[in-house]
Amino acid sequence: MTQLAQTNELTLRDQYTFLVRSYEKFQAQKLKLNMARGIPCQEQLDLSNGLFDCTGPGDYKTGNGVDCRNYGGIEGIPEVRELCAELLETDPQQVLVGGNSSLNLMFDLIAHAMFYPLPGGSRAWGKLPAVKFLCPSPGYDRHFAICEHLGIEMIPVNYRQDGPDMDQIEALVAADPAIKGIWCVPKYSNPLGITYSDTVIRRLAALPAKAGDFRIFYDNAYNVHHLTATPARLLNILDACKQAGHPDRVFVFGSTSKMTFPGAGIAMLASSDANLNWLKKKIGIQTIGPDKLNQLRQVRFFRNRAGIEAHMQKHAAIIKPKFDLVLTTLTAELAGKSLASWSNPQGGYFISLDTLPGCAKQVVAKAAAAGVVLTPAGATFPYGRDPEDKNIRLSPTFPSLPELKKAMQLLTLCIQLVSIEQELA
Ligand code: PMP
Repeated sequence: MTQLAQTNELTLRDQYTFLVRSYEKFQAQKLKLNMARGIPCQEQLDLSNGLFDCTGPGDYKTGNGVDCRNYGGIEGIPEVRELCAELLETDPQQVLVGGNSSLNLMFDLIAHAMFYPLPGGSRAWGKLPAVKFLCPSPGYDRHFAICEHLGIEMIPVNYRQDGPDMDQIEALVAADPAIKGIWCVPKYSNPLGITYSDTVIRRLAALPAKAGDFRIFYDNAYNVHHLTATPARLLNILDACKQAGHPDRVFVFGSTSKMTFPGAGIAMLASSDANLNWLKKKIGIQTIGPDKLNQLRQVRFFRNRAGIEAHMQKHAAIIKPKFDLVLTTLTAELAGKSLASWSNPQGGYFISLDTLPGCAKQVVAKAAAAGVVLTPAGATFPYGRDPEDKNIRLSPTFPSLPELKKAMQLLTLCIQLVSIEQELA
C-alpha cells in the first residue's frame, strides 16, 4: 500500500468510527418512525372532513332523480362522471366511476382480460403460453404485484428525463406479440416524479405493437398533486390514441384517494366505447353497482375541477415543507460527496433516492435497525429486484416535520456508513 493510500484509509477509518458513534446514539433513542408508504398525514385527512356533512339525510338523489341509496348505476352517477371527465379531460360518456380504489379497477380489468379476450384480441390472455407487460422502472410496486400475482411476465424498461425509454419500448412491442401491456404513471411518476413529454405520449399512442390487444395502463394517480405554482400538464392520451388510429389502446385511471380519504375516495377510468362496453359487461357480473352515496358526497364536496384544484393547494401547503426538509437534509449531508443522487419532484408523493450501486438493501436494513422503516429496497422494481441495488423510495407525507428530520438524519448517516463499509471491505 502506498503512503497516500495508507493515509486515506486512516482518515476513512476515523470518519467511520465517528459515524458509528453517531449511529449508536440514534440506536439509543429507540426511534419508531415509518417512511415506508406514501400515505397522507392526519392534517391532510382533516382537509376532507367536510365529506361527513356535505350531504344530509334528505340529499340522496342525483340531478336526474336516481335514488343513490338503491342498487344500480354500474358506470357511476351522471354528476360524478361529469366531475371525473373534467379531471381526465374527456367526455362523461367515456368515463366509468367505480368504488373506492383505482388499483382494484386495474386488478379486475387485467384479471378479466385473463379470462375473456379484449377488443382487438382473439384469445383470453390466460389461455396464451405467455403474457408480458412492460414495466418502466423504478415504478409502483403494487402494479408489479398485480402482474406477479396473475403470472404476467414483467420486462423492466428504463426511464429517461421525459418518460420511459421509447426506443426500447418500440423495439420490444414490435417484435413480441406476447407483450400485451405497459404500466405508465404519466405525471409525477411513482417514485421518480417524472412527467411524460408530449413526444413520449404521442409515441406511446402510435406504438407499432405486434399484439392487436396491446393496452396502455395509464395510471394518472397524481394528476392534480402539484407541489409548485406551475403545474405539469399532459398531452391528452385518449385523443393521441384516436389520432394515431388506436382508439382502444389506452385505459386511463385516476382516483380521489389522495385528495380525500384513501380508503373512501372514488376510482375512475376513461377509455373508448369498445373498451368500456367490454368492461361494463364484466363488472356487471361482479357487482350490482358502486357506492353511489359516496359518489354523490364527492361531487357535493368538490363541485368541479376548480374545487379540486383549490383543495389540492391546501394539501400542497401541508406537504411541501416536508418535501423541502427531505431535500435540504439530503443536500446538507450528502451534496458533493458522490455517495447518492436524488429526484427533485414537482408533484406527487415521493422522492427517489439512488445510493451507490450495491448499497440500498444495507442502508434500508441499517435504518430499520435504528428504528426507521423505509420502503424495502428493490420494491420499486419488478419481482423486487433492483439490478443495481441502489434505489430507495422516500415517502415524506406521513411523518411530522420533527420525525422526518430525525429519520432523514439517520438515513443520510446510514448512506455514509454503508458506503464507507463498502470501500473498506
Ligand atoms: N396508483 C399509484 C401510482 C399509486 O401511487 C397509488 C397509491 N399509492 C394508487 C394507484 C392507489 O390508488 P387507489 O387508492 O385509488 O387504489
